[in-house]
Amino acid sequence: MTNPLLSRTAELASQFIDTLGDRPVGVPVDLTELIDAIGADLPHESEPPQAVIEHLYNTVSRGIVASAGGRYFGFVIGSSLPAAVAADWLVSAWDQNCGFYVLSPAGVAVESIVSRWIKDICNLPAEAAVGFVSGCQMANFMGLAAARQALLSRLGWDAALQGLTGAPPVRIITSAQSPGTIYRALGMLGLGADRAIRIPCDDQGRMKPTELAKTLASATTPAIVSAQAGNVDTGAFDPLRGIAAICKQHSAWLHIDGAFGLWASASPALRHLTDGVELADSWATDAHKWLNVPYDSGVVIVRDRDALIGATRYPGGYLVRSDDVDDPFKFTPESSRRARAMPIYAALKSLGRDGLTEMIDRCCRLAQRMAKRLSAGGVEIINDVVLNQVLFRFSAPQGRDNVEYTRAVVNRIQRDGTCWLGSTTWKDRPAVRISVCSWRTTQLDIDRSAAAILRCLLAEHTSK
Ligand SMILES: *Cc1c(COP(=O)(O)O)cnc(C)c1O
Repeated sequence: MTNPLLSRTAELASQFIDTLGDRPVGVPVDLTELIDAIGADLPHESEPPQAVIEHLYNTVSRGIVASAGGRYFGFVIGSSLPAAVAADWLVSAWDQNCGFYVLSPAGVAVESIVSRWIKDICNLPAEAAVGFVSGCQMANFMGLAAARQALLSRLGWDAALQGLTGAPPVRIITSAQSPGTIYRALGMLGLGADRAIRIPCDDQGRMKPTELAKTLASATTPAIVSAQAGNVDTGAFDPLRGIAAICKQHSAWLHIDGAFGLWASASPALRHLTDGVELADSWATDAHKWLNVPYDSGVVIVRDRDALIGATRYPGGYLVRSDDVDDPFKFTPESSRRARAMPIYAALKSLGRDGLTEMIDRCCRLAQRMAKRLSAGGVEIINDVVLNQVLFRFSAPQGRDNVEYTRAVVNRIQRDGTCWLGSTTWKDRPAVRISVCSWRTTQLDIDRSAAAILRCLLAEHTSK
């Protein structure tokens, strides 16, 4: 190897990845100690690159969370498939600016291929525009930005050029279970998080279509409706076909947040959950979660290309645009960015269609297995485990507060280090959730983790 720095770095990376399975998951660290170890002062003198890398690798190690391993069940966290990691290295080596075609024909070519693949897998309209963004947060932002642009332009108002001051009103309709990311996007878009009308949900967190219909019928103001494909706690899907029909009837824009749930379309066994998904106007999803590519990688898909392009207007005479190819900046909020589709390409190609289906199905089977093990240990499972999310509850012994008890058990589990999970609030009561998203997770990981959870639960139960 002619480049000792890169070969040594590859060695360190493999050393890390090879030992992922033995690393404790998310043990607490002292931040000040960590910063001291890394070294807070920028030295005047230069240092050989390899020494910098060795130092960085060794000193950050105790602050690295093994979330890419098989027993990290907090948030919704994927791992990285080997081919995706390798492609990501190449992306850094190529150092392409994928905002403009003249800067990276290769980036644009791969994006166009991957766009087609994703729309095909997720059963979305072939003509829709696709933007490769940093994550589903930005995908939601862009989907809703396109919605704002389209609805207002129907009324003769160009939101990107004229702004929102004095603009005709738009109604924002979410579900009572819409995650914070939607409100965050609404806030940044000037649409106002608190202006959203929240539609009640059923016991699994699915938006009630009859309630949506009532709300839409109550006014003629143009509306943006935001629905969920995959509730972040329960994994449940809003009844998309019915919701889409109601939206159509009222000319409302339907946006779907499918950060992980959209990938259910890749499995014949799960596809019924996404029934009607293709009828929406915009979709947001993640590649760095269930598709198991490195951060950061999200995808926005918008049926009306012009709405998305209109929302990202980018003036500037020095920008070298292409006439007959779409420059990728038209579909994302960024100007310069890395070639994000390359790792997605590598992930999908290495899995193949069958491998993708298998990975999605496997995570769901493992979620079921976890639910069974926990339930057998006396834990109350709250949700119908239809996807990869399990929601459960520890009931406090008499005399102890449920919130405090749940926190204590979760703290024990996190300190134990076998697996990592987090708490949530479900229907105003404390609950605990796990999300199985990693290609690495095995049955053994589930069994070890379930045993650790039950062990910590018992320890807390008998502690006082
Ligand atoms: C994770 C998640 C998001 C936010 O995505 P990022 O990848 O963190 O930007 C949005 N919606 C849902 C349902 C999610 O699970």
